[in-house]
Amino acid sequence: MTMLRAGSRHRQVTAPASDALWLVKVTKTHGTGDSAVTALDGVSLRLRRGTFTAVMGPSGSGKSTLLRCAAGLDRPDRGIVRVDGVEMTGGTEAELTRFRRDRIGFVFQDYNLLETLTVAENTVLPLKLAGRSVVPERVQEVLHLVGLGDRLRHRPDQLSGGQRQRVAIARALVTEPRVILADEPTGALDTRSAREVLRLLQEAVRVHERTVVMVTHDPVAASYADAVVFLADGRVAGELRQPTADAVAERLAHLGDDVPAEV
Ligand code: ADP
Ligand code: MG
Repeated sequence: MTMLRAGSRHRQVTAPASDALWLVKVTKTHGTGDSAVTALDGVSLRLRRGTFTAVMGPSGSGKSTLLRCAAGLDRPDRGIVRVDGVEMTGGTEAELTRFRRDRIGFVFQDYNLLETLTVAENTVLPLKLAGRSVVPERVQEVLHLVGLGDRLRHRPDQLSGGQRQRVAIARALVTEPRVILADEPTGALDTRSAREVLRLLQEAVRVHERTVVMVTHDPVAASYADAVVFLADGRVAGELRQPTADAVAERLAHLGDDVPAEV
């Protein structure tokens, strides 16, 4: 069922239900005139439901813009984004916001938690914003899933970075979105916390059939995914299935001279 009005520019297409996210020739330019930067230059990407994809590439290659376009946080200049077979591009801001809330969860590198709210309150925020009912058992369940069942009343400043990111993941999971987009979710975490976060994302895919797209600089993090898509200069520069950390590092080394220093 689509939440969008008939006759709106969002329309059901005859895409197989197995396609969770489908980008067709997406182009996005930031800024205008002399300062215009083409962040994405005709990117096409088709991801099946229940897959875990890592996106890698040099700094400035368009990874965050790709995620933001896929999430409906940025509007492409050209091209089409379909989530669950429904076109997201086009439509009003209000339609887009609603679409995003129903179908997409987003996880940021810096967690984006509200410091004045408790763990439980942060977690249910997307439900509140969408006007959906909040079932206490569901909140308990989702926080239990991320290993924070005993921290409901804590505030973010009482948690470690890894715990904060797990709250952010709980918040992304609580609406049961089809697609979860994570922009360097382990970028600020120590190895052990990173591993916990990666396992949770993997579990969301394997157990709950969500579709996860994760930007990362770390070949080890990328090896948790089913496939890696490489970006360079706003274009898809290759793909690696069943990635091992070594194979990813090797491929990155050959992507260009401006591979980020931390790789
Ligand atoms: P990545 O995440 O791979 O580092 P981004 O998608 O953030 O790349 O950026 C791609 C390009 O677009 C970069 O050149 C960046 O400077 C530019 N860019 C990104 N966001 C903006 C913005 N809001 N305004 C202007 N330029 C931007
Ligand atoms: Mg980025």
